[in-house]
Amino acid sequence: MNYQIAIGALLVECNHFGGVPTDMASFQRTQYVRGNEVLALTDGTIGGFLNTLSQSDQPCTIIPTVAATACPGGLVLDSTYQSIKTDLLTSLAAAQQDKGLDGILLALHGSAATESECDLEGDLLQAVRTTVGFDIPIVATLDLHAHITQRMLDFSDVLIAWETYPHRDAAETGVRAAQALIDMLQGTLQPTMAMGLAPVLVGAINGGTAGDGPFAQTMKYAKYMESRPEVYSTSAFLVHPYLDAPQMGGGGLVITNNAPDLASQLARNVAEFYWEQRFSLEPTLVSVADAINVGQAHDGTVVLVDTADCCGGGAAGDSIEVLPDLIDLGEGVASVMPVVDSAAAEKCHAAGIGALVALQLGHQHDRKWGVPLHVSGEVLYLSDGKFIYSGGIWDGCQSNMGPAAVLKIGGVHVCIASFPTYEWCGEQYAAFGLDVTRMKYIVAKNPMNYRMAFGHCCEHFIVLDTKGPTPATCKHLPYSHSLRPAFPWDSAIIDPIWVLGQNDF
Ligand SMILES: [Zn+2]
Repeated sequence: MNYQIAIGALLVECNHFGGVPTDMASFQRTQYVRGNEVLALTDGTIGGFLNTLSQSDQPCTIIPTVAATACPGGLVLDSTYQSIKTDLLTSLAAAQQDKGLDGILLALHGSAATESECDLEGDLLQAVRTTVGFDIPIVATLDLHAHITQRMLDFSDVLIAWETYPHRDAAETGVRAAQALIDMLQGTLQPTMAMGLAPVLVGAINGGTAGDGPFAQTMKYAKYMESRPEVYSTSAFLVHPYLDAPQMGGGGLVITNNAPDLASQLARNVAEFYWEQRFSLEPTLVSVADAINVGQAHDGTVVLVDTADCCGGGAAGDSIEVLPDLIDLGEGVASVMPVVDSAAAEKCHAAGIGALVALQLGHQHDRKWGVPLHVSGEVLYLSDGKFIYSGGIWDGCQSNMGPAAVLKIGGVHVCIASFPTYEWCGEQYAAFGLDVTRMKYIVAKNPMNYRMAFGHCCEHFIVLDTKGPTPATCKHLPYSHSLRPAFPWDSAIIDPIWVLGQNDF
């Protein structure tokens, strides 16, 4: 028996409260490959799929479809999604007509949304299921920040999520997913899935999986269940809270081997455990002014965490909320901050290195969260904005900030990019040629990876209470769907947990 396995990917995290709309160019800047180009991918989840399938005792023919990945951003344009979806479905239908299909492996995110669809993955899995029928196993991988919906459970056979945050295990998750598909095809796995959810909407500040934090403990609690013989796989979720969708929550997904009631019970247990962690998941925040006061009283470098403008959570990266306070410190206090502003980058490039320029800066891509500031400074550095990631889900991949510049305003080194990019381990600052260890203040616009990026050069990290589409506390966001009762608005809820099972069709 030679199994015919189709593989594909559509991976992007979306934000309903801001960010730049995700269009085809957003995917093309990161990854948009088709057909045999998919087979050339060696890392990430697809790399894990390919490694496992090619080394399996069971011969497999791998049928590549499409792999589309973008930096997190605003909603995917309907037209962009339809184009990628059509690409995928057309490939699957053609493969099924040709030699038939035995299984499908998809690398998804779980918190993607379009202009008109707030459950992109549920829609996509339903469409794939409708295309190939109910006899072909569909296995998908997800980010642990996925928003799990009933449709995702109903129209897939196995969902397996990344287990690490900061995210380091995309390839390993691909391996686990491919093995699950092989196990299903060989008849040793009859998966029964359930998802337990608790109404907890929190940012990722305390959501790391290393150490002993509240989400790390939830992950350990869920993973320990895998030691039971009936349990095939468990995943823990801290839902990406910057979607505005109904029934959002975090908790645990449990896959048993033909034991649906046990899956439901254990999924409920994970969600209950997660609910108990809620108070330690919500961060303590400091105003920008207070953070600067604290910083001035300390020796050494201070990281100001402006997570409200996190490109990795879909924000535009164009906030300048921290900038006036840094400028006020004067020329003698060196600091560095990133701002996405293509118009400002263009002006710096037109002026050239060493030029003094005056321009409008900030809030020029997402105007919902602030107004531009008129600034003047010296252009210190110009580049094409290309850099290589040194770890994480895009390890070794090139990324592109577009035309980029360092504009020095007083003591502030403003690193201006044209496009948002995911912050992993300080690669962007390095690409601007800056030694951040010389700075008194480093602004980081992410809720977790800053510790990895700057832990070697500073001990003081202050999480700011700032405005934007990815704030440290969800209390700041104007959700339109009714999510209540939910934490952090409501902390005492009678019977807070709900469990999703799989419907039969
Ligand atoms: Zn994530």
